[in-house]
Formats: sequence, C-alpha cells, structure tokens
Amino acid sequence: MTRRDFTRKSALIGAGLAASNFVACKGTRSVRNDELNVTIPMPVQIVIDDVGWWSGEDGNERQEPYRTGISRNHVPADYQAIVDLGIKLGVRPQAATILCEWDRENILRNLPTSTWMREKWDNSKWVGAWLDEAADIIRNNQNHYELTMHGVGHEYWQDENFTRAEWADSSGQMRPLDQVELHLDYFEKLLDQNQLGPFPTSFVPTAFLHGFGLTGEHKISMAEVIKKRGINYINTPFYNMYNAEGAQFGLFGIDSGVITVDRGEDLLDWDVFGEKPSGVLTGPTCGLHWPNLLHADPRRNSEIVDAWVKLLRPYNDKPETLLAKNSSSFRNQLVHHVCTKVQIREDKIDIDFLETNKLNDQLSTNELTVKIESQRKLTFNSDDLNISELKIAQEKNNYLYTLVIDSVKDLEKAVVKFEAT
Ligand SMILES: [Zn+2]
Repeated sequence: MTRRDFTRKSALIGAGLAASNFVACKGTRSVRNDELNVTIPMPVQIVIDDVGWWSGEDGNERQEPYRTGISRNHVPADYQAIVDLGIKLGVRPQAATILCEWDRENILRNLPTSTWMREKWDNSKWVGAWLDEAADIIRNNQNHYELTMHGVGHEYWQDENFTRAEWADSSGQMRPLDQVELHLDYFEKLLDQNQLGPFPTSFVPTAFLHGFGLTGEHKISMAEVIKKRGINYINTPFYNMYNAEGAQFGLFGIDSGVITVDRGEDLLDWDVFGEKPSGVLTGPTCGLHWPNLLHADPRRNSEIVDAWVKLLRPYNDKPETLLAKNSSSFRNQLVHHVCTKVQIREDKIDIDFLETNKLNDQLSTNELTVKIESQRKLTFNSDDLNISELKIAQEKNNYLYTLVIDSVKDLEKAVVKFEAT
C-alpha cells in the first residue's frame, strides 16, 4: 500500500465520525442585516510537515522512512523557503520537524525503535556544515519560523521492519509510554545538540496517527504526556484521528487542556514537488508537506514560495478569514471564531463572550479580530473595549473594516457602536 492509499483508507474509516460533534459552544460567527455584515473571521495557519530530513529519498521499500520523496537532497535553502514564506505573508509557519538526520553523535543507537539501523545507527554522512547553516536560519528568523515537533525518525522500528508510526500505531493507539517518553527525551537531546532552541510548544503526529483522549490500556493520553513537556497545541486531521467524535468544538477539541485542531484535507498530495499550488482552503489549517514548497533546483525555491504567497494572501482580505500571525494568535482567534457570538442591534454590535470564557485558559492573548462589511463609510467606538487597530479596504461601493480589539479577556459582553460619517 502506498502512503497515499494508506491515508485515504484511514480517511474512510474516520469519515462520518467527525460530522456530528458540535457539542459545547456554537458561536454566531457571522451576522448580517441590510446595512452590515459582521464576522469573526476564521484564522488560517500554515503547517509544513516532514521538515528536517537531509536525504530526500523515499525509503519505504527498504524499511526506511518515506522521508520527503524528492529527487535531491535537502539543503539550507529549503529552510530559507519556509522563512521567506513567513516574511512575505507576515506569519510564522509551523515547520513540523524530524530530527534523526541531525544526530551529530549517533546517540540514537541508544533508542533502537527510532531508526531503521537500530543499534547500528550511523548518521555520519549527514554531519556537515549544512547543519549549522540551517540552524542559523532557524535561530535568526524566530518570528517567521516555528519549530514544531513531528518526531525523531517518523516511524517505529520494533525489529528490522518499520511500523507506522512513531507515536501511535495504525489504529491511533499510543505506543508504550516508556518508549514515548524516551522518544521525547531524544527529540530534546537532538534539539540541544544543534542549539535549535527550547522544546517546541506544538506537535503534528507522524503519519497523522493519533488518538484523542485515552487509547488502548493507557491511563494517560498522548496530549497529557506532551503537555508535561510544554506542548499546548496539536494539529492533525480529524478524518484520521482515533476518537475524533470526542473533539468537542467541531474545528477543535480540548484534550487534557491541549487544543487539538482539525487539519482537514491538504491542498496537495504529500509528494507534489516543484509545482505551483492551486485550490481553496476549507478549514483553519493550510497543511502541506515540505516538497510542496520547494523546487528541484533549490535556487528556484522562491518561484514556488511566491506561488503560495499569491494563493494565500487573499485570505487576509476576505471578510470570513485572516492569516494568523503566529500560533498563539491563531489559537486565540479560533476559539473566538467558534465560541464568541455577535449580534447587530440598531447602531450597535453586541459581542457575547460567555461561551468563550469557558475556554479562558486557551486564550493566550487579549486580542480579537472582527471584520465588518458595509456600503457606507463608518466609524466605530466602544466604551467596553479598546479598538487598537482599524483597517479599511474599499472596493467599489463596498467597505471592509478590520477591527483589532484588545482587552477582551474576562469581559462577558461588550458593545461596539458604529456611525455613518
Ligand atoms: Zn510526516
């Protein structure tokens, strides 16, 4: 079975589970009258999988990982491509990273389940100047590059043959807890070897094999295990997640206090390489795999990056979406998008945070973005809130107002007044 077939097959198993799970809060994301259309836009975040390999070879037929499946090795310019995407869009893409080929000291010999060579692990061919060059790019561009945990070796080697995948088996059941803890320890050791920064705060499960809540005989969920390491955000497609029906809020669920966001379907297959993207996003995650951002000639990576910029930039200008600047503003706006209610009453917009406040510990910033469409030129003010930024875009007779509001935390309700000028 190819990797794609595998994902498709799992998708069918998971389908039908996720549809009926809107349980707790269901906000009014959008409300319209003759004059106004008020929306709490859905944030979009870019998540790029399988960053970190130096070999591009798809090794699955030799019981090695799929890696990225491209026809060349990876180079530091492939990291710069992620940074460039972030700079051009004013965002901080998540680079979901595999670290085994960054092992300068062959420490993974001590963790045989993490690589295809097991106790005989030898990474010497991938130790070279490119490690420092790529690490510099990551370190020097923290505002436009988030190192997200993906895994150590991506799969799980019980003997000579790999099984999918590193953190959970093919039904989404977590691997033995002692092994999971060791893989986390070694992920951290590899970060330290390469001075790649502190332990990440976000996680993308490899092969999208993950269980929401408890799995198998375990008394602790994967979310709780990684929460102890400081992770507060999991991104994975719910069509492939065990117990997806347990996710309480549709687009996301809270698992042991960790937000778990539905990645949905990616626009491109994992091995599309050197092609300009097309398609329409349908959920809050713009998921891709590293090859999707790159060119066969790394000097031409920018051609593919620019095509992504062209595809994604309009999502900032639509009334119903925005590009989140980083993970914390993404989480914040997503919770508001799902839980905060808006209403129009005469010359006022009522905002209701009652449901949102139940998820207060997910709100890491005080900010909320609201977009308002009108055919009239309007001004806005509020006694309850601080409107810290107002952007106005005009197209023919239609105005789109983007209001960035702060100090919303702990408020139950607020009113924004509007007035024609
Ligand atoms: Zn992966």
